Amino acid sequence: MPRPIYAEIDIQALKHNLARMRASAAGRTLWAVVKANAYGHGLENAVEAFADADGFATIDLCDAERARRAGWHKRVLLLEGFFDETDIEPLQDLDVETVVHAFWQIDILKRLPLRCVKVHIKVNSGMNRLGFLPVEVGTVYDILSSIPGVKVMGVVTHFANAEPTYMGEAPASVARQLSRMGRLAHSATAACMANSAAILWHPEVAGDGVRAGVALYGVSPDSHVSSEELGIIPAMTLSARIIAVQEIAPGEVVGYGSRWCAERPSRIAVVACGYADGYPRSMPDGAPTWVEGQIAPLVGAVSMDMLEIDITDIPQAKLGSLVELWGKHLPVNRVAAACGTIGYELICALARRVPLRIRH
Ligand SMILES: *Cc1c(COP(=O)(O)O)cnc(C)c1O
Repeated sequence: MPRPIYAEIDIQALKHNLARMRASAAGRTLWAVVKANAYGHGLENAVEAFADADGFATIDLCDAERARRAGWHKRVLLLEGFFDETDIEPLQDLDVETVVHAFWQIDILKRLPLRCVKVHIKVNSGMNRLGFLPVEVGTVYDILSSIPGVKVMGVVTHFANAEPTYMGEAPASVARQLSRMGRLAHSATAACMANSAAILWHPEVAGDGVRAGVALYGVSPDSHVSSEELGIIPAMTLSARIIAVQEIAPGEVVGYGSRWCAERPSRIAVVACGYADGYPRSMPDGAPTWVEGQIAPLVGAVSMDMLEIDITDIPQAKLGSLVELWGKHLPVNRVAAACGTIGYELICALARRVPLRIRH
């Protein structure tokens, strides 16, 4: 018998979310961002569910290979570009497009004999992570265009603060980043700038392509806005069963470090999910779980393979009950907020040992 834990992946939800983002993308090229194993949902599932996307954007050349093997024949783009010169041959073999963000990458392209390398020039418009400064782009374009076998596809940039939570306050606001882009944001060279948040909340962001990530998986990019408000459906539901129930007296403590102490006679359920499954050990007492239609609080430190919840007030919860850690009933952003992170981190960090159950 496998351990009673699984993440259900809802293919229809993924398809729905793609159509939802397609509508907002308003005729522009829609890249489905599938890095980190499609945000934990399984790259092969993304191949199936995102068949209507125009391309896949990812980080790792191995993903490109895996997607091709799974039958993805459309475009693939490496968002951080290649990492060394051994990547160039497979890049061409797999017909994968690449970001170029630094002069060391250009040096590699100059040095090697190339058949056809399709590049997107990454512009640092204020996030100060990757890319050339807007003033350098003209020169970079000229150099790249002069290298035999290099084809420049366009420019890309990335927003640091496109979520409404940041609006107005952030030093690197969308408006400021757009103004730094200047004519690059509108030029004849194709521009691809928007992530999920910019697609949803910044229709002023132009360009001929967009890159949708987290929203495709039904998770709001802004934890203060719900999935329902955005018309997207959570596609991953992580569930595990109650494998033991302890009836404990006041004064008894639960788990490693005896962090939680019962103040009343309590029913404590042991759930087959731990930090080795991707459920953060940093989760505090009181973090929400969902069982038999109600919220049950986490009690005590999460261990490697188990966690405990207080089901004193939920008499229907019993041995064998399925506990939702996050998903359809319990937004992953809400769970993430309990331990000071964002939904992105939880879905991406789902451990490999957790089986994915595909629902068509
Ligand atoms: C991850 C990523 C995206 C997708 O961002 P979401 O917020 O998940 O939509 C887009 N562009 C780049 C460069 C990224 O790294």
